[in-house]
Amino acid sequence: MNLSMEEVFAITNRSHRIVALTGAGISVESGIPPFRGKGGLWETMNPMEFAHIRSFRKDPARVWDILLRTMKDTLDKARPNPAHEALFQLEQTGRLQGIITQNIDGLHQAAGNRCVVEFHGSFAKIRCTKCDRTLGIQQLSLTQLPPLCACGGVLRPDCVFFGENIPEETMIKARELTLSCDLMLVVGTSAEVWPAAELPHMAKAAGARIIEINPEPTSLTLHSDGLLQGQAGRLLPKLLAMMT
Ligand code: NAD
Repeated sequence: MNLSMEEVFAITNRSHRIVALTGAGISVESGIPPFRGKGGLWETMNPMEFAHIRSFRKDPARVWDILLRTMKDTLDKARPNPAHEALFQLEQTGRLQGIITQNIDGLHQAAGNRCVVEFHGSFAKIRCTKCDRTLGIQQLSLTQLPPLCACGGVLRPDCVFFGENIPEETMIKARELTLSCDLMLVVGTSAEVWPAAELPHMAKAAGARIIEINPEPTSLTLHSDGLLQGQAGRLLPKLLAMMT
């Protein structure tokens, strides 16, 4: 069901424990292409080639090469857009309890949000597959691929690849936020990637309202309380302006 801004405002205004679940779509207006939807990476390449753990284990140098060519520059240049900024301001009002993001771009933290669960990890961090040491991607020499740790182990991005489980601590934090919210704003996600896609259903079963902000309906839309249709960078600041 499509909702008007006034209807969403009325629901949001009654809510005091809001949680945002965000996906690639919220960063589109920062210049980072999503996987699915219009202009998504899936139109030109198969993300399974660089985003599945099987591909990384088989040929880490190739996956690193694709990630560096397709993502690193884009992520380095990206800055928070008005949608990220609106969520920061919503946290400042005390009504946004936290953000669960599927994104690996760090833009919610760059906007200033303090409570951010990075459900799929972060591209800014690197982890050794042998000794588990972590370091920042900026500390890394990327002249030789795959990059190696001092211990000789292959270094990997500290992201959750397709085919891997969500770390337990992350899952616990995400569940806590999900089960305690009275409204979940689901922004810029196709709700196709599990277990992240399960979180709005969990929130709803625990009594929360679910509102999506997305230019297109998704597989969640039938189960949500409504869709505010359009770009997050335009709609979230408008919603916030009505609230403050
Ligand atoms: P997705 O690519 O599957 O879906 C993107 C969704 O965003 C679509 O439903 C699309 O209609 C919507 N969208 C497009 N432009 C929008 C806008 N301006 N405002 C609001 N919504 C918009 O993304 P997903 O559901 O997050 O799942 C893909 C997986 O790939 C996730 O793990 C995701 O984090 C990862 N990924 C991350 C980034 C990033 O960190 N920025 C980029 C690409 C993919």
